[in-house]
Amino acid sequence: MLGLLLHHFFPASLCCSRTAYRTLAKIDREIRSCCDSDAAIAVLERSKTDLLALLRARFGSPAAEALALKILNIFLARHHLHARSQWVRSRPIGLVVDPSNMCRLACPGCVHSARSQTLKVFDWRTGTLPEDRFAALLELYGPYAVGVYFCNYGEPLLNLHTPRLIRLAKSYLLATALSTSLSVRRFDPEAYVESGLDVMALSIDGATQGVYERFRRHGELEVVLDNLRELVKAKRRLGRRTPMLSWNFLAFEHNMHEIPLARRMARKLGVDQFRVVNPFDVRWDDPEMRPAVMKAGVRRLNWLAIAHAAENWNPFPRSVDAVAIERAFERPWPRGSAGEAPPGPGPTCHWLYKNMVMDATGRILPCCGAPRPDGRLVFAAFDSSGGDPFNSGKYRQARSLFSAAVPPSDGVPYCAQCEWDHATVNIGGPEIRHYFRAADPAFFDRRSLSLLSGW
Ligand code: SF4
Repeated sequence: MLGLLLHHFFPASLCCSRTAYRTLAKIDREIRSCCDSDAAIAVLERSKTDLLALLRARFGSPAAEALALKILNIFLARHHLHARSQWVRSRPIGLVVDPSNMCRLACPGCVHSARSQTLKVFDWRTGTLPEDRFAALLELYGPYAVGVYFCNYGEPLLNLHTPRLIRLAKSYLLATALSTSLSVRRFDPEAYVESGLDVMALSIDGATQGVYERFRRHGELEVVLDNLRELVKAKRRLGRRTPMLSWNFLAFEHNMHEIPLARRMARKLGVDQFRVVNPFDVRWDDPEMRPAVMKAGVRRLNWLAIAHAAENWNPFPRSVDAVAIERAFERPWPRGSAGEAPPGPGPTCHWLYKNMVMDATGRILPCCGAPRPDGRLVFAAFDSSGGDPFNSGKYRQARSLFSAAVPPSDGVPYCAQCEWDHATVNIGGPEIRHYFRAADPAFFDRRSLSLLSGW
């Protein structure tokens, strides 16, 4: 007990010299030598006891069980990625979830733009995520994942229950982030500050209404700035550093001249960092909307703010879902053929092994690509009635495309012809590093982090 108390106030390196590295390195070595998934799972089962003992001495239960599951899941997902398994026993490391499919804005290139709606370029449906569907998703994957990103194509603030969804994610010790335009009329800043949200990215691509609304169509800059002021006030009133606020500015030719002014406004308003982002090319939608030729970059405005603050790693210790986590910990990892095949000529897609995307209506997508009417990017429907959408027929077919040469044809997942970035996922190496560093930067030292995230 004394040890736990000490660890609560001081990092591991100050209490003792023990870090996670030796135990993680042993698991890493053994998993790397496995020739199939059953052998890898045998390693996980053998390692559970030692890993749990190590983590319990530092974190206590149920945080130790949660961390053990997340770590073992990472090692197993890495094994599947390298083996090109079609059927995976690991769960997604990160979840990307739309609390609402709706948006008031109509930015070029988006599923909500006027042109893409008129031409029916995408198959995007309206809907709001019910809490029970999200709770069921978390029951299945929450104990194993490290984070949830609450936004894909919808505006998350339009679901008035989003703060409750974030709080639910925190009960599984997940890192949480969302991206918003802040251009909404109903907004409860205190609810977001109190939800346990780690990071809020603010999509504001202009410093004056005229320039801002050229891309953020129907967006109201005054509403955005008012909401931002209230959010900063709520953080101060409640004495919290989170959510860390990142003003993300998509740099186009038409707005790049306002970047210095926007950065000054951000600093004055109390935003924590200012990020210049290179946008996707959306000229297929609006030929006038040309990306600026300039370097992306981040400017820290508040040196005390960090994206994943240690105090927010487990902000509600009494609400951690110990029952669900312990049940998952006791459950043996399923075995059986994982459909491994010799790797194809090129690299496989990391999305298929690391993240899973669900829209507000429960449709499962493999990545952030917007679904088109041909349905080739909709891999399953999540309806809370059991089953594992991460191993749906489409998922297995998509993974197999990178093992054998399968020519594109009707009904084959979009992956067969995909030319998007296959290596960068929403919740991957950098997010894994942030996550374990927030848990304890000394215990999960540099070498431990590199084992967990360097793949
Ligand atoms: S191959 Fe392309 S479409 Fe398939 S999951 Fe990866 S990024 Fe998405």
